[in-house]
Amino acid sequence: MIVAMQEKATEEQIDFVIDAMVDAGVGVHRTTGASQTILAGVGPTASVDLSKFELLPGVLHVHRISSPYKLAGRGFRPEGTVVEFRNGVKVGNERVVVMAGPCSIESHDQIFETAARVKAAGGSFLRGGAFKPRSSPYAFQGMGISGLELMREAADAHGLLVVSEVMEISQIESMLPYVDLLQVGARNMQNFNLLRELGEVRRPVMLKRGIAATIEELLLSAEYLLAGGNYDVILCERGIRTFETYTRNTMDISAIPVVKKLSHLPIVGDPSHATGRRDKVPAMARATVAAGGDGLLIEVHPNPDRALSDGAQSLFPEQFVTLMDTLRVIASAVERTI
Ligand code: PEP
Ligand code: MN
Repeated sequence: MIVAMQEKATEEQIDFVIDAMVDAGVGVHRTTGASQTILAGVGPTASVDLSKFELLPGVLHVHRISSPYKLAGRGFRPEGTVVEFRNGVKVGNERVVVMAGPCSIESHDQIFETAARVKAAGGSFLRGGAFKPRSSPYAFQGMGISGLELMREAADAHGLLVVSEVMEISQIESMLPYVDLLQVGARNMQNFNLLRELGEVRRPVMLKRGIAATIEELLLSAEYLLAGGNYDVILCERGIRTFETYTRNTMDISAIPVVKKLSHLPIVGDPSHATGRRDKVPAMARATVAAGGDGLLIEVHPNPDRALSDGAQSLFPEQFVTLMDTLRVIASAVERTI
């Protein structure tokens, strides 16, 4: 940490700040310039509440220079994390992994038809929500475990993996027989009790960025999972809420290279929830791959106009096929495959 003192700071104020840093367990290196004193603190600064120092008399600025997340930081695993699934699919290596399917599992025919289309187009995961976090309590809330049973069957029939959202601790155990990748939705990114519990589970987790979460907050949430011993974590940029209302959210494409630099964890893009409109999904999917994303989460529905949730952002299966063809070209331009 760096504490920059005000130009007029007195020796007494400087000594007071040094004492406070030492009390917090931090070693202090003092530099006295012509007009300003800088105090550099080294040691266990991750747990220090910097705002307390900002309030001390004579202090101008306090900065953190080491990241507050240790296990999620790139330095912990400079070579990057590759999350491996039981059928050999890996997220975080040269191959961009595509997860696709409906927003919600709705019926046997819907999920089986989607599975066939996703597989034929080159997808690796079948996505579909069984427990849905809906903004309105009157909207379709999902089929629950019976939906997961259908999705597992459909995925197995086509050699696909399954990703589905877990909304609360009590659902974890009952989902494990059906799900290869447990999704934590945007609304639960800071449900720390859920994250702590998922840290204890030996099943990969995909953590979606909260609608108003900074990248640092996303990585701190990932830290909860890693701190529990679950290192199989995939991050997901799914758009954040900004002043722009034209799209459902604003896809923060730049979060992908930023996360790649700050963290060793793989990151995928979700252009469906980011844009909310199917005509904008292909462009943001292409941008995700171009920006270095390790995968994509895309909503595809055999009959989007009749979907029980998120129909407007779901691709028709034919559009998904065309998109996959285009993504192959982009992937090869950035030395990836798909
Ligand atoms: C979803 O993937 O269906 C979903 C609800 O996503 P998010 O949490 O990003 O809104
Ligand atoms: Mn959805």
